[in-house]
Amino acid sequence: MSYTLSTRSLERLNGVNESLVNIVKIAIKTTKVDFGVTCGLRTKSEQAELVKKGASQTMNSRHLPQEATGMSHAVDLVAYISGRVSWELNLYDDIADAIKDAAINEGATVRWGAAWHKPLNEWDGTAEDLMNEYIDTRRSQGRRPFIDAPHFELV
Ligand SMILES: [Zn+2]
Repeated sequence: MSYTLSTRSLERLNGVNESLVNIVKIAIKTTKVDFGVTCGLRTKSEQAELVKKGASQTMNSRHLPQEATGMSHAVDLVAYISGRVSWELNLYDDIADAIKDAAINEGATVRWGAAWHKPLNEWDGTAEDLMNEYIDTRRSQGRRPFIDAPHFELV
């Protein structure tokens, strides 16, 4: 079955880089898991608030207006099961698979917030395997993985 973005999701794509908007619009047609857009462009004070809460690790977020374009180069997507928000991690790797295919289609490179070490495009397997590789890499470095599965950004 094919899904569509709600009006609210489309509104949240305002101020987002056109290439990334195209990727999201392609992905919603092919994704196995329905999703919506929760965040695109963010102000500096909104970002500072998220860092304070530990929901983000950087004031260098790609949700902030990027110097080159003045637009956000990141989106946060939320999974829906029967129209309800779900945070089940396995739903997000399915969304990431759809985003990867769409990014290849669009000719853009995208990084996923559950696999920071390598862009989705540079990985041959599933997004789930890429996430597991990221977790293994971090653990082998004695560092905790930072999983932000709803987050996708242009590289
Ligand atoms: Zn994000």
